[in-house]
Amino acid sequence: MTELRFSLALFVGFAAACARPPEPASRPNVLVLSVDTLRADALESYGYVKPTSPQLDELARTSTVFEQAISSAPWTLPSVASIFTSYYSSTHNCWSEASMLDGSFDTLAEVLCREGYDTACFVSHPFLTTQNGMQQGFVHFDYAFTQLGTDAPDAISSVAVSEGGIDYLEEKVAVDDSVPWFLWLHYFDPHTTYMPHEGVTERFVERGTSGVELQRGIYDGEVALVDREIGRVLEVLEQNGLTENTIVVFVSDHGEEFEEHGTLAHGKTLYQEVIRVPFFVRAPGHPPGRVQEPVRTVDLMPTLLDLVGLDLPPAIEGRSLVPFLKGGRISLPPALMELRRREDRMLEGLVPRAAGS
Ligand SMILES: [Zn+2]
Repeated sequence: MTELRFSLALFVGFAAACARPPEPASRPNVLVLSVDTLRADALESYGYVKPTSPQLDELARTSTVFEQAISSAPWTLPSVASIFTSYYSSTHNCWSEASMLDGSFDTLAEVLCREGYDTACFVSHPFLTTQNGMQQGFVHFDYAFTQLGTDAPDAISSVAVSEGGIDYLEEKVAVDDSVPWFLWLHYFDPHTTYMPHEGVTERFVERGTSGVELQRGIYDGEVALVDREIGRVLEVLEQNGLTENTIVVFVSDHGEEFEEHGTLAHGKTLYQEVIRVPFFVRAPGHPPGRVQEPVRTVDLMPTLLDLVGLDLPPAIEGRSLVPFLKGGRISLPPALMELRRREDRMLEGLVPRAAGS
């Protein structure tokens, strides 16, 4: 792991080039916060009984909350590629750990970069790096904190992701160059191996528990740690007067199973525990609300482009959800879920549109 971290750190600061000079800050800033392996019902705002998420619940209270948001895939690479291209796996073809997102796909970061945004990300998952082509469109691309399934004591990355994001935001405030920014922070800690955190995990693990119950308690502590760290970023937004002109989107790439159907973790099934994810949008000028109709994470990119006033690429598979943010309704196609990690094993599923829509 040490070697991996060192070699990845060499790529910190990888820079893409925007096609044209930035334009004045006529468009809002965009902050996308994503948490790996976070099932929707692990948050109080989605009905969980344990206090895992006070910061995210506060954000949800001022956002449009999509109660039935469906991820396109139950593991990281295809899911996040769908979020940032608005194409399903069967179109972007990121099926396996070795897949590379083809340069022909226009990512959200590339579109915003071309339109004059400063684009930055701090990610903590190896599938979200240059290894799989996920750096497309980012001027500042930092994945020094990348980790995967390790229980090494230094494997907790959420604090570093938030520090990176906060440093970036404070630098933007100090420069004050009127260039709008797009910042993506991806948090990893709820992913296996679940790690205990002093002062946090004790609140979720009852004395004497073992097995899957114990694992769930430690997982809940990981969620609470990430929640605390996201709260620090949101506080910096507020303290610097950025909240008024910043769209904040919260999403997860997939959930996690705790033997509800006989298996643990994710990437093997399409049950709701792994496919239903938290997804909410706080957009200045739009009132908070809750949406019952099923939506898709492929809808995230067109929703953001719509909110910042840009045309949607014609061929994408997602739709803008802005009408929901305005209190209206739209009819969406059924949500498609796909899983194919090996050629000989494929799972597909559809979540139908809401009745009457
Ligand atoms: Zn993931």
